[in-house]
Parts: sequence; C-alpha cells; structure tokens
Amino acid sequence: MSTLTVNDISKSFYGLKAVRGVSFEVGPGQMMALIGPNGAGKSTCFNMLNGQLRPDTGSVHFHGQDITGDTPSQIWRRGVGRTFQIAQTFGSMTVRENVQMVLHSLNRRLWGLWSPLMSGYAAEADALLEAVGMLDQADRACCVLAYGDVKRLELAMALANRPRLLLMDEPTAGMAPKERNELMGLTARLVKEMGLSVLFTEHSVDVVFEHADAVVVMSRGELIASGSPEEIRENPLVQEVYLGTGAFLESSDMGQ
Ligand code: ADP
Ligand code: MG
Repeated sequence: MSTLTVNDISKSFYGLKAVRGVSFEVGPGQMMALIGPNGAGKSTCFNMLNGQLRPDTGSVHFHGQDITGDTPSQIWRRGVGRTFQIAQTFGSMTVRENVQMVLHSLNRRLWGLWSPLMSGYAAEADALLEAVGMLDQADRACCVLAYGDVKRLELAMALANRPRLLLMDEPTAGMAPKERNELMGLTARLVKEMGLSVLFTEHSVDVVFEHADAVVVMSRGELIASGSPEEIRENPLVQEVYLGTGAFLESSDMGQ
C-alpha cells in the first residue's frame, strides 16, 4: 500500500485555478521531490496535504485512510510531520529544550504522560541532536544559531514527532548551495535509517537529482510529469516548461 495517495485534487483562489486535478503517490521509504517553477501550485498542494487547505475536489489518503479535509492537528496526529518554524517558537530556549518540548508533547499525546517540561527526555533529545550533528550545540540558545544550524534543528524537531511521512516545503530556502546539498543529504540518510517517506520541494536541480528517488513536476497548476530523476531529467516537456531554453542540465537553479 502506498503511504500517500493523492487523487485528482484541485484548489481555486477567487477563480484562479492554483491546482488542477493533481494525482500522485508517495511510496513507503520514498524520498520524492515536487518541483516546478514559481507559482506552479506546489505550496498549495502541500497545504492540501497537511490540512491547511481543504481541496475543492479529489481526495487524499494516508496509509489507506481518507484524510481529505481533516484539520492540521488531526493529520499531524496520524503521523504526517512537517518542519517546524523555529522563529515562531522559543528562540530563547536552548537547542536541547526545543527538542525536549516536542518529545514532551508527543509523549503526552501518545501516553497521557505528564512531566515537568524541561526535565524529561534529555537522552532522547540528545540522540536526535547527534543524528543531525547538533549535539555540540545542545546548550546554546536557538536565537544565536547560524541559519543552517537552525534548519538542522528543525529537522531534529520534525523527526522527534516520529512521523511516517515528512512534508518539507522549501526546507533549504535561503541556504547556500553547499548547505542545501548537505541538509538534503542528511535528510535522505536519516529517512532511510528511520524508514519514513518524504515529500519535499527544492529549487536546486543538483540537489533534487542527487537526493530524490522519485520526482513529480508541476506547471501552472497541473502535474506534467512523474518518474525517476533520470526520466525527469530527459523529459522534453519538463525541459521545455521549466526553462524554455533546454538548458535544464546546465542550470543549477530552478524557479526563483
Ligand atoms: P508554488 O509554491 O509552486 O510557487 P503556490 O501554490 O504558492 O505556488 O501558488 C500557486 C498560485 O496560487 C499562484 O498564482 C499564487 O499566487 C496563488 N495563490 C497561492 N496561495 C493563494 C492564496 N492564499 N490566495 C490567493 N492566491 C493564492
Ligand atoms: Mg511554494
């Protein structure tokens, strides 16, 4: 059974068809990239999968269960994770405390356990921080971290929720090319180890082709191609829609 089955979803904003009849599947353990030029409808798709937006048509199934129109917290409880926005949480808290906070709320949700907020789950938090290479910064306040380190912490916090599917809309936005590649390489390794699935968007073709094992392509609200990175790289329609110049392979940046 596929992890996520997206069937014919559409969304309009004031008459503008942002997403039109999009269908695709994410398989177990798959690291799938959703790519396309700016305005293609990628974020609108993500928001229909995570519950922020209700699709006008179609359905979304997660492990065979219909989650269409469920709220973000219902979908999150079923095991669909997202990267946190640290800026919106507690910048004065330490790196470790931020992960502990997620573990605390997860355990309360799963088991009804209550524990004083900052005393529990330190070992589990440190294991996650070690996995993302942030253990040496565990006692630092989040607000002093470098941008790339914030992104690694966000990944640790998303994984702390033990998702079965991770949705990452532009996880490397604002990062330098080398950092992007490192973050997605790290994500790819961890998701393989933990056996979860990922759907992510990414502007750099180099990063997509290096780390995705499947790719779906959107343009003007529609899905125009899906396949392996090799198939997508050679797809003439994708090359045409993407850059209009056939310069797909030489470009290291898509969209913006
Ligand atoms: P992408 O993430 O691929 O860049 P989006 O899904 O953000 O594309 O946007 C797709 C289209 O929908 C764009 O034309 C955008 O302006 C429009 N759009 C997205 N969200 C809204 C909204 N909340 N209200 C009105 N129009 C929106
Ligand atoms: Mg977007």
